Amino acid sequence: MASGRKRLAVFKFASCDGCQLTLLDCEDELLALAGTVEIAHFTEATRTSLPGPYDLALVEGSITTAEDAERIRRVRADSRFLVVLGACATAGGIQALRDFGDVREFTEAVYARPEYISTLERSTPIADHVPVDFELRGCPIDRGQLLEVVTAYLAGRKPRIPDRSVCFE
Ligand code: SF4
Repeated sequence: MASGRKRLAVFKFASCDGCQLTLLDCEDELLALAGTVEIAHFTEATRTSLPGPYDLALVEGSITTAEDAERIRRVRADSRFLVVLGACATAGGIQALRDFGDVREFTEAVYARPEYISTLERSTPIADHVPVDFELRGCPIDRGQLLEVVTAYLAGRKPRIPDRSVCFE
């Protein structure tokens, strides 16, 4: 890039925004990074929306529509590193409960005009659709781990995160 700054982009798919809020909660640390990083796309925080390529893309949310399945492929093509954030992006999230039933029955029970709802049968993690460089688990994600992942990829090294960073017991 002409400015020499690394380009960071944040994308939302099907999610509650909680993991993006964790990123916004890193305000002081993000300001410290501001001189070295260009935030090219982050609709939760800024109206700036610049096209790729991006050095690092952070992705929140699962894939639940055909449009999003196509959009994540474009994000992947535009991004050197792609890191997915939280249970929605790494496992399908609470919205994956639909996978245990008939999504058409659910939409008919919930919506007055279900014919206007265009959705996939299942909610799937990002890695089911494109190669992912790192999965940061949690619901929401841990603030300190997020900062480590962002700092590491912007510095061109692997993040130092424990293999099992959440309790499975
Ligand atoms: Fe929200 Fe949890 Fe999904 Fe993060 S993983 S977007 S906190 S539901």
